[in-house]
Amino acid sequence: MDNSHKLQLNAQEMKDYGYQVIDAIVEHFIEETKKQPVVFGTREEMDSLFKTEAPEEPMNYKEVMDFVVDKVLPNSSIVSHPKSYSFVPGPSNYVSVMADTLATGFNIFSGGWAASPAAAELEIVTLNWLLKLFKFPSKKGGGLFTSGGSMANLTALVTARRQMCGDDFSKAVIYMSDQAHSSNIKAIRVLGFRKEQVRIIPTDLEFKMAINKLKNAIARDRLAGLQPFCIIASAGTTNTGTVDPLNDIARICKSEKLWFHIDGAYGGAAILSKAGALALKGIEKADSLTIDPHKWLYQPYEMGCLLVRNHKWLSQTFTEKPEYLRDIEGNTSEINFYDHGIQLTRRFRALKFYMSMKTFGLNAFRKAVAYNIDLAEETETILRASTNWEVISPATLAIINFRYNPIDKQYTEKELDALNQKISEGIIASKEALLVTTVLQNQVVLRMCLINPRTTINDIKETLQKCTAIAKTLS
Ligand SMILES: *Cc1c(COP(=O)(O)O)cnc(C)c1O
Repeated sequence: MDNSHKLQLNAQEMKDYGYQVIDAIVEHFIEETKKQPVVFGTREEMDSLFKTEAPEEPMNYKEVMDFVVDKVLPNSSIVSHPKSYSFVPGPSNYVSVMADTLATGFNIFSGGWAASPAAAELEIVTLNWLLKLFKFPSKKGGGLFTSGGSMANLTALVTARRQMCGDDFSKAVIYMSDQAHSSNIKAIRVLGFRKEQVRIIPTDLEFKMAINKLKNAIARDRLAGLQPFCIIASAGTTNTGTVDPLNDIARICKSEKLWFHIDGAYGGAAILSKAGALALKGIEKADSLTIDPHKWLYQPYEMGCLLVRNHKWLSQTFTEKPEYLRDIEGNTSEINFYDHGIQLTRRFRALKFYMSMKTFGLNAFRKAVAYNIDLAEETETILRASTNWEVISPATLAIINFRYNPIDKQYTEKELDALNQKISEGIIASKEALLVTTVLQNQVVLRMCLINPRTTINDIKETLQKCTAIAKTLS
């Protein structure tokens, strides 16, 4: 028998492979700005490039690598590109990429204390950094890292339901605004709630949850004999960056004895800057808080995070004791993170957070977040000073929505919608920038999410000029 069943390259081959990987990644970081952020590809085109049967026989490792570097990697949009403004960009950072490589390279099991005490300890340490930043109770507080914001929201809502309703949640009702992220609805569906158990509260003209309407909904549900149990507030909606009135909602949760969950997956990271901390006042009052380090804390995918005021809520919700884990329980200060969430086998996510914070320092992260917030405000100033553009939602936690609406023309709303849709399509077709539309108060608008610390005001000016040029050819 040859040695192929060992699935191993020899040392020199491994090094060659590794150098090529590192070269490709470094080039990606350094040359990024020279590339175009947008990629197109139909299913047919991708099939024609990649569709094969599973190969029985080996292939030269260099050929496999070359093929991937040439064909696979370039067929993805560059979410860290300075002109990738849409959805939520993923600026990432090289140190965390290397940390992920190490964590994967050593295949560190980050489920239980006994398997990797250092990994569990680093998760505790980095979670404590975050608890402190958000002014959560330092001793009692807890949390865990997840694959992303969706899983953090799901984990939070399982916990909320367990703590507030126990096993009978047939009358439970949960509240969120019409701007809340779709992952919350998904989580509620996963949890088996019926549609009638969710109240979508309208937002006011500033896209904030309307407090009076929230109070009315809770009162009506109580009168109907239902059991209000949880309010989900958004701390930075994905559409506009708007923060719900957190202090008002906290007061309602307190007097009505409801669970207060805050979805800060988009905006939570803004706590690092002065302006952001001001906007997020009241966030420290949440029972559970989702943040998403793979967005605005500049980590590569995947990394979400859930923080809770009391770590026991997690262990009371998720601890199961199967026989085969009996020998590795340890004492209670030695946390088994599989007892704090859904996953048993978990990758070592804390390492990238730890290494990037140690390498760059928290102050660099603070400066990056402040830079992003300022950049959106500067963009707002430019837009307001122009005769072509109209600001639809002002710069809020690095998000701004606007549309082309020149003062010397009289377009109908319908024409404006079509025109702005076309501008977005035009700029994407040019591959110059990724800039898509969203809908706010029934208007089609262009949305910029400016959380990339390597985006410059000049990038934005260039993109706006190009958009104006496209608009002029259309009208
Ligand atoms: C992105 C986002 C989520 C979902 O997070 P994922 O990391 O994509 O799973 C949830 N809530 C808000 C407000 C978001 O912006």
